[in-house]
Amino acid sequence: MQAQFGELTASGLYCPRCRQAQPVRERLLLILPDGEMHEYVCRRCGSSLGQRTVTGPAVRPPAMNGAQPTGGMTGRRRGHG
Ligand SMILES: [Zn+2]
Repeated sequence: MQAQFGELTASGLYCPRCRQAQPVRERLLLILPDGEMHEYVCRRCGSSLGQRTVTGPAVRPPAMNGAQPTGGMTGRRRGHG
């Protein structure tokens, strides 16, 4: 069995509605605090075929003076109480 996927780029995605790969267009879906979310829409029927999150340049908070502890990775935030 040989499954050849070829080049699945943003210019062509499989559309379940059209039952075949269709050219898509990318549109801005929403803007995130750390990037943008784009959506791939079928050019033929307009179905949403997927999303892509584009992370912009790393923005750091302006108030940042002082030594940061190494490996400061806070996963979850605990409530005060
Ligand atoms: Zn379609």
